[in-house]
Amino acid sequence: MIYYKSPDEIEVMAEGGRILTRISRDIKEMVQPGISTKDIDERAVVLFKKNGMEPAFLNYGRPPYPATVCTSINHEVVHGIPSVKRKVNEGDIVSIDIGGIYRGFCADMAFTATAGEVSLKVKELINSTREALNAGINKMIAGNRLYDISAAIQGVAEKKGYSLVRDLVGHGIGKNLHEAPQVPNFGKSGTGPVLKEGLVIAIEPMVNVGGYGIVTADDQWTISTADGKLSCHWEKTVALTGDGPRVLAGL
Ligand code: MG
Repeated sequence: MIYYKSPDEIEVMAEGGRILTRISRDIKEMVQPGISTKDIDERAVVLFKKNGMEPAFLNYGRPPYPATVCTSINHEVVHGIPSVKRKVNEGDIVSIDIGGIYRGFCADMAFTATAGEVSLKVKELINSTREALNAGINKMIAGNRLYDISAAIQGVAEKKGYSLVRDLVGHGIGKNLHEAPQVPNFGKSGTGPVLKEGLVIAIEPMVNVGGYGIVTADDQWTISTADGKLSCHWEKTVALTGDGPRVLAGL
């Protein structure tokens, strides 16, 4: 069942989202060649404490997720576990997923940062992923259908020759990190539930240079592209308000 948020609840979520977005900006800056993914996580832990935000990912799921952020490098799509042994190299792209709980409500967002110089092709991948996400957000209008969002995302990414991960989806968000409805990054426009004011969802395209197939590592968390090609992840928490879509968290 979809739980629609009241305007007051959306204001609380917006406050948490603003804090999480600020923290993310800080973390994005520190992605440089030579740091470890554990350094990124430790910085997030400090910033969460300082801002009165609780981690939403820590101890989530089975086996319990062991960190505050996910750090997925290059061909890793999502859920990479921070480690002291995992250094960021020149030219890497690092997808960082970050989720927090503030006054009982969750905010969830992700972005792909670049370490040092990257090629034009990599920049295009990142820009296209953001463009696809924003095209989806623009369809978040009362009366539209849920898969209008999905189709818009798919349209932008596939037109550029990329593929969208199909086994992982965006989601409703509120008191729980993952709520109904599921928000796929592909679909047929004009289908799915009718969008209503008060809907809050995390929209998160995972865009692959190669095929959309993915594999899970032995750590049971890290998900990578099956063909080893690059993947980019961008996510925003968005509310449907009387004035249309309102981004609560996201870069
Ligand atoms: Mg999410």
